[in-house]
Amino acid sequence: MPNNLTNSTMLAVVYARLLETRHKQMSLLNILEFPDPRLRTVAKPVTEVDDSVRALVSDMLETMYDAPGIGLAATQVNVHQRIVVIDLSEDASKPQVFINPEIEVLDDAICETQEGCLSVPGFYETIDRPEHIRLKALDQDGKPFEMEPDGLMAVCIQHEIDHLNGKLFVDYLSAFKRDRIKKKLEKLQRKKN
Ligand code: ZN
Repeated sequence: MPNNLTNSTMLAVVYARLLETRHKQMSLLNILEFPDPRLRTVAKPVTEVDDSVRALVSDMLETMYDAPGIGLAATQVNVHQRIVVIDLSEDASKPQVFINPEIEVLDDAICETQEGCLSVPGFYETIDRPEHIRLKALDQDGKPFEMEPDGLMAVCIQHEIDHLNGKLFVDYLSAFKRDRIKKKLEKLQRKKN
C-alpha cells in the first residue's frame, strides 16, 4: 500500500506523461502569407464538431501562441473550414474558439484600430470596422453561444471572419499601399526560399 508521498509521486509521473502525450499530439501549422492565393479560399461551414475539429483547434491555438498572435483563422493554416481561435489575454490564459461564427452589426459606431496579421507579417495599418456587433458561433463542444463583443474583441473576430471569406485587412487599403506591401513580402519570401 503506497503512502501519501508515493501516491503524489506517482500522480506527478502520470501527469507528466499525460502532458507529454498531449504535447506530442499537438503540432505547429504552417501559416500562409499574403499574397498566397490559398488565402482567398472561402471556407465551408463545419458540419460536425468532432475530435478532428478539436484536434485542429488545439494545433491552431498552439500555432497562434507560438507566432505569437491574438487570433488565427483556419484559412491561414490552409484548412478551409469556418474555425477561428482568439486569445486577447496577455498570458495566453483565455483561449476562445468560434466555429461557424456569424455577426450582425448593431449600429453605425465605427472603431478605428491598428491591425496586423500573421499572414501579413510586419505590417500594421489603421482599419475602420463596426464597433458594436452581435456574434453567434459554436464552441468546441458544438454548443451554440452568443455574445456582444466590443473594442478589440469585436475588431479581432471581424478580422478573422474576413479570413474565412478569403478577405485580408490589406483589402481595405488603397491599391497602391496593398501593392507595396505585396512586393515587399514577395521579396522577403524569395529570400526565405
Ligand atoms: Zn489575419
